Amino acid sequence: MTKPVLIIGGGPAGLSAAHAVAAAGRKAVLVEKEDRLGGAPILQGYAKLVPSHEWAKDAIGGMVDRVAGNANVTVHTGAQVQSFDGTPGAFTATLKDGTTIDADTAILATGFTHFDSLNKPEWGFGTYPDVVSTVQVEQMISSGQGIRCPSDGRVPDRVAILLCVGSRDRQIGREWCSKICCTVSANIAMEIRELSPKTNVYIYYMDIRTFGLYEGEYYWGSQEEAKVKYVKARIAEVTSDGKRLLVKGEDTLVKRPIAIPFDMVVHAIGMDPNVDNMTLGSVFGVELNKYGYIDKKSTYVTMAETSRPGVFVAGSATGPETIDDSIAQGAAAAIAAMNFGAGAPAQAAE
Ligand SMILES: Cc1cc2nc3c(=O)[nH]c(=O)nc-3n(C[C@H](O)[C@H](O)[C@H](O)COP(=O)(O)OP(=O)(O)OC[C@H]3O[C@@H](n4cnc5c(N)ncnc54)[C@H](O)[C@@H]3O)c2cc1C
Ligand code: SF4
Repeated sequence: MTKPVLIIGGGPAGLSAAHAVAAAGRKAVLVEKEDRLGGAPILQGYAKLVPSHEWAKDAIGGMVDRVAGNANVTVHTGAQVQSFDGTPGAFTATLKDGTTIDADTAILATGFTHFDSLNKPEWGFGTYPDVVSTVQVEQMISSGQGIRCPSDGRVPDRVAILLCVGSRDRQIGREWCSKICCTVSANIAMEIRELSPKTNVYIYYMDIRTFGLYEGEYYWGSQEEAKVKYVKARIAEVTSDGKRLLVKGEDTLVKRPIAIPFDMVVHAIGMDPNVDNMTLGSVFGVELNKYGYIDKKSTYVTMAETSRPGVFVAGSATGPETIDDSIAQGAAAAIAAMNFGAGAPAQAAE
């Protein structure tokens, strides 16, 4: 096979796939719908990443530079695939502007969509300007403005971070855990404490899932070093007494109702399936799983296969994933895509 590998999506997974293809001396064509590469960490302006503490613009920006400057990679930004026809070794993708791309194989690295907190109206988002999302806090920190209440610009004395907003919530059809938001929230809490030592930060949780090695640095570190307070609670609503926001619910450890005043409330939003997935599923002829993420054909044999031969998938397109796992999956998908039809053992076993 000698045609390029077509990669859709220029986030961490797609950038990793493009780099792996190029490093093997093969051609890649990268199609990104936004006008710049980098995926959520760059497009949404994340601050310092978990677990490396590097600024997103440096860490993921470096991945962008490595791909954008590579002679083996052709990049189309502001572009989307309108049709995708053919068979492995002879696929043709047509972009919306009419450009056609011939490819041997394709990798979908089309990522996720941030949960929109307007779908959780009882927790005050969209009603009170000082109820914000973790993405907005990331942007406040990465822009250098520090932590400020949007309503009047004051530095908050008290901040509540509410976990599992748009995750683990069957009432709104999202039963999955978004995996990274406990750790991201602990990280944000520590950053707020560092930027504004006078600000008290409380994290309201059902369970804490600072998984793997994150437990020591983020769960314990945020409490022991940064003095962040954790409250196990069921939150019913976020209202206002006219001066401050009120977080109301039940402290589930002592089984008592709570109504606690805060200056700012942060929703730790989850990772929804990409809103484009129905279209992507239809254009590329791949199946989605029951949650609406792109389905993986097998978990172990070749982790990157979709239901359509020659079309692979990587990163948070498959479900909530961290950046490092998305990068690993991008590289794995690149190897699977390049080996496809070459008699690789995994393919021969099918
Ligand atoms: C608030 C928040 C903070 C986070 N912080 C961290 C952290 O510190 N550390 C960590 O490990 N993880 C973090 N994550 C998770 C992280 O965002 C994901 O792991 C990562 O973005 C996944 O990379 P990806 O390439 O799979 O998807 P994405 O980053 O979503 O990239 C997908 C790309 O595909 C493009 N695309 C989508 N649809 C199409 C289409 N139809 N055609 C063409 N292009 C398309 C998108 O524009 C995007 O550029 C955080 C998540 C949230 C919500
Ligand atoms: S990682 Fe934490 S905040 Fe995110 S959905 Fe899972 S339990 Fe909730």
